[in-house]
Amino acid sequence: MAEDLAHPTAESVYSRLSKQLPGLSQATIYRTLQFLEDEKLIRRVSSPGAIGRFDANVGPHQHLLCRVCGSLEDISIAALHNAALPKVSGFTVEELDIRLVGKCDACSRSELKNQKRKEPANRK
Ligand SMILES: [Zn+2]
Ligand SMILES: [Zn+2]
Repeated sequence: MAEDLAHPTAESVYSRLSKQLPGLSQATIYRTLQFLEDEKLIRRVSSPGAIGRFDANVGPHQHLLCRVCGSLEDISIAALHNAALPKVSGFTVEELDIRLVGKCDACSRSELKNQKRKEPANRK
């Protein structure tokens, strides 16, 4: 799990582990993930859609989220680690969950290709 930097969902953890450990129940996986989260060994990442992803990297870091393919990558931006938590009345702010949303390399490249293909061929 700690080697998995792809921010797996509970489902993907289950499908992978169940191949190695047949007979493993999905409930066990959910319980284990919940336990690891309670122990602060992993954390849940907010992601588009309601699917919780888990993050084995509990150190301070931010996420790069590709809005095209949905890939989630870790990035560490030192300047953001010590950003002051804003005070919100009626709410205890515990952390800033920073997501940088945009397009990953692969997606911007394939988009560029598509644009070139779409360009009218009337230039000489
Ligand atoms: Zn992408
Ligand atoms: Zn992460």
